Amino acid sequence: MSRSSDPRTYDLDSLRDRVVSEAGGAVDDSIPQLADADPGLCGIALVLPDGTVRSSAQADVLFSVQSAVKPFLFALALLDTHGEAFDRIGIEPTGEAFDAIKLESGTGRPPNPMVNAGALLTAALVDGDDVAARNDRILRGLSAFAGRPLEVDEGIARTEHLLGDRNHALAHLMRSEGTLRVSADDAVEVYARACAVLVDARALAVMGATLACRGVNPVTGERVVPAGIARDVVSVMATCGVYDGSGRWMQSVGIPAKSSVSGAIVLAAPGRLGAAVVSPPLDAQGTSVRGRLVSDRLSVDLGLHAFG
Ligand code: GLU
Repeated sequence: MSRSSDPRTYDLDSLRDRVVSEAGGAVDDSIPQLADADPGLCGIALVLPDGTVRSSAQADVLFSVQSAVKPFLFALALLDTHGEAFDRIGIEPTGEAFDAIKLESGTGRPPNPMVNAGALLTAALVDGDDVAARNDRILRGLSAFAGRPLEVDEGIARTEHLLGDRNHALAHLMRSEGTLRVSADDAVEVYARACAVLVDARALAVMGATLACRGVNPVTGERVVPAGIARDVVSVMATCGVYDGSGRWMQSVGIPAKSSVSGAIVLAAPGRLGAAVVSPPLDAQGTSVRGRLVSDRLSVDLGLHAFG
């Protein structure tokens, strides 16, 4: 059996150098701001349970978190509803694209919290009497996960709210099923704003590490969510986090993760570390091409496969 490297001394810049020449994939063009992303961007960070943060070049470049926010919205919804979110959303993988216009048959619930239907609902379940209060609660919650105050890119939030036709369709479908109880437009606005939160690889790695450390942020020491919620969220990341590529991801990389259209991947290896990688060009399932290569390498070199 080969010996794993030590994450404290592992050379993230040479890993970055090795993957940065990979030219495959295409940058998402669903909104102009994402289409403008630098295809050469590649940043990697990892965070250990003692709060050590390690990063490569470009780990401080800001990008919109997009779907990498979904595990954290689910965590906040579970917290604020005292677990009722589990009854309102399924947790089975869909084998379909992230924005498929489809609800669980028989119940009308979203299939899981890692696809758009589910995230629209988790965002709507976070505490707050109106859109502004819910937005505020989400931003504070995400900042606690990241261990620093995060901000929203207002332009991206507005564009996604306006241009997110499939998200509007999903919200209306859930309204018609009675599963979404706020207005469809309010639900899309809150979700779009959560996707537009700006992070860098370092902040996103701290967020992943908070899940990996049983809900305690290892950098600030703050308990953000109870250990049971962290466990539940990481479990659903393992089965549904990479959309219709989740099975292959768990088999090959073996680390619970969430992908996103901005090219970010957040990883949570319980008890071991949190990590994040961002690089915009995506494969057919919406997973960052270089992000997958980095995750594969980290899994092998640091011995992180859950069943390894
Ligand atoms: N904001 C994007 C959307 O709702 C997120 C999708 C993703 O990152 O996979 O379409």
